[in-house]
Amino acid sequence: MFLLGIAIQSLLLRRVAASVIPSDAKWAELNQTVGGRLYTSLPLAASCFSTVNGSPSTPNATECALVQQGYTQPDFRSTHYSAHMMPQWETCQSTVQRCLLNSNDPSDPTAWEDNECWQGAIASRYIDVRSEDDVLAALSFVNDTGVQFSIKASGHDYKGRSSFGSLSLWTRNLDSLNYSAVFLPEGGNETYPAITIGAGVPFEDVYAFAEENNITVVGGYHQTIAASGGWVQAGGHSILTPIYGLGVDRVLQYKIVTLDGVLRTVNNFQNSDLFWALRGGAASTFGVVLESTMLVEPQMSLRVAAISFNQTADNARGFLELLVNNSYKWGQEGWGGHMGPASLINVNPLLTLEEAQASVQPIVDYALAQNGTAVVEDLASWQTFFAKYVESAEASVGVQTILGSRLIPTDPFFTDDDGKEALVDLMVKMVDTYAVNPYIIQGTPFLYNYTEGTTSVTPAWRNSLWQIGFHENMLYNATLETMYAQYEIVNNITSWMKELAPDSGAYFNEANPYEPDHEVTFWGDNYPALLVLKNKYDPFKLLDCWMCVGWQGPADERYSCYLNISTDY
Ligand SMILES: Cc1cc2nc3c(=O)[nH]c(=O)nc-3n(C[C@H](O)[C@H](O)[C@H](O)COP(=O)(O)OP(=O)(O)OC[C@H]3O[C@@H](n4cnc5c(N)ncnc54)[C@H](O)[C@@H]3O)c2cc1C
Repeated sequence: MFLLGIAIQSLLLRRVAASVIPSDAKWAELNQTVGGRLYTSLPLAASCFSTVNGSPSTPNATECALVQQGYTQPDFRSTHYSAHMMPQWETCQSTVQRCLLNSNDPSDPTAWEDNECWQGAIASRYIDVRSEDDVLAALSFVNDTGVQFSIKASGHDYKGRSSFGSLSLWTRNLDSLNYSAVFLPEGGNETYPAITIGAGVPFEDVYAFAEENNITVVGGYHQTIAASGGWVQAGGHSILTPIYGLGVDRVLQYKIVTLDGVLRTVNNFQNSDLFWALRGGAASTFGVVLESTMLVEPQMSLRVAAISFNQTADNARGFLELLVNNSYKWGQEGWGGHMGPASLINVNPLLTLEEAQASVQPIVDYALAQNGTAVVEDLASWQTFFAKYVESAEASVGVQTILGSRLIPTDPFFTDDDGKEALVDLMVKMVDTYAVNPYIIQGTPFLYNYTEGTTSVTPAWRNSLWQIGFHENMLYNATLETMYAQYEIVNNITSWMKELAPDSGAYFNEANPYEPDHEVTFWGDNYPALLVLKNKYDPFKLLDCWMCVGWQGPADERYSCYLNISTDY
């Protein structure tokens, strides 16, 4: 391995600056090196269309029916290379070239009868990565040819960072899972109960494995996010984060091939500068992660509060006031969860059932007074909770969705009456002005005992109580004008949020794709040190991604499908 690393470094030294299109023979050579797992890609729904990439094509009714069935299913999408959870990242938004079905009714034939199918932003070739050797071969090829490449695990990215380029490394099938009660980080002298997760493993598999091993893994609120992919490297929030920390707080070690072609084990004892960078500096920046190892907790029972009622123009404000007024106390009691103007699903591993019932009684009363439903119950484990509540409530996929968000500081928004009122006013303004509901996540490390300086996420995580998200959906056939108009709504709410909490920040993974001042917003004071490390581990700028550390900027040809939207607002 070491020798391969050296070979790639020497290739780096003679790399030509200009991009070239590799010959067929070169691609064939790469295909052979990776055991025949270099594939050409077509859009997910190509089999439905009679014109694909400008040429006549014979539709395949059987395949098209399967795509229709799976179109809004995360498992289906995550196991198909060319599918992304938010399909606008499969499209070329700037030229409106796409190959989408109607996500409201995937069997609607007008989608393929009235339109042609275009490759959009999907990389034309991908390697189904199965080992570090595939990654080393790919990086060697990239160095040799100068092709632009991207990395994709599940396709959950909200900014399209797992599309683009002529070549993609698809890590979905790096699917190893291993639990050790006595994991010893290489070079360390203390052991931990920990799980080692291959780069492609979705959370639903992680949780099922954890259940079998009587442990709890602190992880995300969606079944197909890759735990060791973009989630952990940029922060990784969970509704257990208030007590147990962010993903970056819990990671003990990574295995990564850095962009200088070296396989590295990265932890507090070796490559510790890179370890810090991978604890928040975000994915697709320093190399291709092969696996991560994370601290686990024993299996724990959870108190769950699930409340919902029909939202009206009259009842949203009252509920939002209750949420704002109670959240500080709930934070101290260990609650975490997802909330909105007419719903809440929160969990608590610390309180007894009686204490939990008393704690949420004010909102139970409110929901029941609106003829809503309220359940407060005890569930045996995270997996039981996830199967019962999350899989039916998690964010939908297959729909073009633009997201924005901001971290909301505890002080003054949950400690001071004026602060609370300003926060409620802003959320009500979102609902009243644009019919956009705030998506509130009590998932910051509120009670977690953080050791200063150990992670590179924005410090705003450490003094915030909520993340508020907001989103707009776009129809599959939205015109360019409509797309611009919908991004504008998200931008307007983003600027209101910035005015409300100017010194806070936003979570890289869930922020507006056109976030102003992104370096400060995503990383705060940590940005300059992250940039130094980017230059150290990617000296020839092999990997670039939208608003990532060291980003080359929107003018680069790989970003030609993004819209021309100013971030100066
Ligand atoms: C429906 C939905 C629900 C979500 N819920 C949560 C949540 O509960 N908590 C939370 O914190 N976030 C959540 N997110 C955000 C999520 O964490 C990010 O989108 C995350 O980046 C997904 O990582 P991925 O690897 O699965 O996705 P991908 O789109 O495959 O990749 C995301 C980024 O990581 C890079 N990448 C992937 N694998 C590797 C690798 N092995 N090495 C280097 N770079 C890599 C990609 O190039 C890309 O830049 C959610 C997103 C969606 C769409």
